[in-house]
Amino acid sequence: ASPALLMRVVASAYSVAEKAATIVRNVMSAGDLGIVEKAGPNDLQTKADRLVQMSICASLARKFPKVTIIGEEDLPTDDVTEELIEDGHCEEILKKPCPAQYTGIKEEELVIWVDPLDGTKEYTEGLLDHVTVLIGIAYGGKAIAGVINQPYYNYEAGAGAVLGRTIWGVLGIGAFGFQLTEAPAGKHIIVTTRSHSSALVNECISALNPDSVIRVGGAGNKVIQLIEGKASAYIFASPGCKKWDTCAPEAILHAVGGKITDIRGNSFQYNKEVKHMNSAGVLATLRNYDYYASRIPNTVKESLVP
Ligand code: AMP
Ligand code: MG
Ligand code: MG
Repeated sequence: ASPALLMRVVASAYSVAEKAATIVRNVMSAGDLGIVEKAGPNDLQTKADRLVQMSICASLARKFPKVTIIGEEDLPTDDVTEELIEDGHCEEILKKPCPAQYTGIKEEELVIWVDPLDGTKEYTEGLLDHVTVLIGIAYGGKAIAGVINQPYYNYEAGAGAVLGRTIWGVLGIGAFGFQLTEAPAGKHIIVTTRSHSSALVNECISALNPDSVIRVGGAGNKVIQLIEGKASAYIFASPGCKKWDTCAPEAILHAVGGKITDIRGNSFQYNKEVKHMNSAGVLATLRNYDYYASRIPNTVKESLVP
């Protein structure tokens, strides 16, 4: 029997994300980022965001024409050149059995949320390891699978090191491509935004009285900090983060037993009709979700309307 649709989509998304990473690196080394301001100076789009979104969406749409694909960038759909198309897949993923509850999924029931380049602000500033490519797969409104590619993983290790990695996960199977690591026991290390802070973001963090705060770009990058034990909670008490930022990271975090919600404790929905903005912020942990959730001040929760 041929592999289940879900596994074929994840296997293709893996290769599509690797192609995306190559584009991200090539645009940077060519030197012309083609920066466009969207809502303002902290909401940027580069040539890499544009080319990668075209590559991911066109490649997946060609193989899975009835799947709904929602990408971050508003782009004309007609100028996708053949060199942007990736038609490969990861064999290792196809070898894994599909969880029973997902074997009957049809193309028209899947929604793929694409953040072609998460951490664009940091990309333009040369903070390259903050950057990720996010492909999240949703079914029944839930994030059930995801691929995160980090194009510049290992870039500080020097010329000999292999650059980049791809992390993938499916609920009921687990997540792969990294070493799951617990954060230091008894320490409260919060990871939060670097370039989208606000008085409320800082008020919320102060109320949690953390041992330390890591400020880095990217929702994908921050969830990686959780699963690799660098931070114990990702806390962002602000609107700004969107469904394409959280879908792939959520699937991977949940696949290894973590939890992500908005600041008020509501889970995110990923059906195609949903509002894109995560207006009530983000609260995510690998362990001890309740510790952080129970300490968010009510005044902060009430300031964020879902
Ligand atoms: P950050 O943690 O600041 O890197 O944000 C995580 C994701 O949410 C990135 O894709 C940001 O572009 C997006 N984001 C967060 N806050 C804002 C904002 N105020 N305006 C635009 N995008 C935002
Ligand atoms: Mg993003
Ligand atoms: Mg983006």
